[in-house]
Amino acid sequence: MMGEAEPPGSVAVLSTCFSYLPLVKGAESGCLAPNRDRPAAERLQRIPQRRQTRTDPRVRAFRRAFFPNVPDSQWNDWQWQVAHRIRTLKEIERFVLLSTDERAALETVGEKLPVAITPYYMALISAVDSDQPLRRTVIPLGAEFTVSPGEAEDPLHEDNQSPVPGLVHRYPDRVLLLVHDFCSTYCRYCTRSRVVGHNQLPSRPDRLELTFDYIRRTPSVRDVLLSGGDPLVLSNEKLAWVLDELRSIPHVEIIRIGTKVPVVLPQRITPQLCRLLKRFHPLWMSIHFTHPDECTPEVFTACTRLADAGIPLGSQTVLLRGINDNLETMKRLVHALMRMRVRPYYLYQCDPIVGSAHFRTPVSRGLEIIEGLRGHTSGYAVPTFVIDAPGGGGKVPLQPNYVVGRDGNDLLLRNFEGRIFRYPDCSE
Ligand code: SF4
Repeated sequence: MMGEAEPPGSVAVLSTCFSYLPLVKGAESGCLAPNRDRPAAERLQRIPQRRQTRTDPRVRAFRRAFFPNVPDSQWNDWQWQVAHRIRTLKEIERFVLLSTDERAALETVGEKLPVAITPYYMALISAVDSDQPLRRTVIPLGAEFTVSPGEAEDPLHEDNQSPVPGLVHRYPDRVLLLVHDFCSTYCRYCTRSRVVGHNQLPSRPDRLELTFDYIRRTPSVRDVLLSGGDPLVLSNEKLAWVLDELRSIPHVEIIRIGTKVPVVLPQRITPQLCRLLKRFHPLWMSIHFTHPDECTPEVFTACTRLADAGIPLGSQTVLLRGINDNLETMKRLVHALMRMRVRPYYLYQCDPIVGSAHFRTPVSRGLEIIEGLRGHTSGYAVPTFVIDAPGGGGKVPLQPNYVVGRDGNDLLLRNFEGRIFRYPDCSE
């Protein structure tokens, strides 16, 4: 079944020439319209909603250069995208000029988290700039192989809180169900890099039955979060079976899906899939966004379909050094999300997985970003900043300190402009 195992790497690259690169370079200097390096959210912002094109100009230019003979019917088919994922050094260097560091990392990635990038997402990656945020999230660097103090393969101790394989029961009333370990595109900072992409957690019925049995036997579980690997890379049939099984358990009130598919594989969000998902309400979705450049017209269409199917959409974003760790980028992201009806939900401090030091920022950076958003933009656009406590402690929310002291019964509060106000507090 599609999505159960890594298909053998094969990319039908129809043009391997770097004739594409002058186009990109010209575009960078402002000479040519389509380019992979101009912020997509900026363009999205300027286009009135009704006139939005359904294809990002970077994607159009990429297809012309590398897949000129692939018709829309194939390009827009999610299974074609999955089958043509770009996975090896040889394949990647057809699309980008690799830095020495990237090349060395790709040569040694071996048993570590595999590399895979959908052709669609590759179109958004700069061919020439190895520091481009989206490129940094999917192409490995040598720093991935350095183990720093405090890092661990499983920093959240998920394996210790797993009563059956592929199910994590940390909080009393909810469980995390890892439906499989397959993603269409692998993020280099993935918390579950010890699991995903290794073909060790199949979506086989016998394994999943064990997780359903556990949930059936545990009436305190009212909320099931499907994650993985990415649940939306399951076939419609398998996904419907999983959701049907969960819905047949009377005490399961809410089903949530955690996914990056709308961002890296928006072709998967078809009207058929949305009709399927609608049958299982109340169903919520957390979408993994990283950067405003991901907010393309394709992603806009995918999120519109999901929102129109009545699915409440939230975003989850990992704070990443040099990628999205500044206020301006984060503001562009949360504003683009709001326009797509995705509520910025969590901003995560990056988990200390092995080889993540180059991605991690000081916690103070996240607090500064939250402080720069709160009061300066819509309250709905301000995510909750959390650290998932190493050792399995669960999510701990962090806030800038707005309570500056007390004066008698009065609470002294600092507002978003730094001005001090009093609130007459009540006694117990
Ligand atoms: S999509 Fe999620 S599970 Fe998959 S590699 Fe990225 S962070 Fe990990």
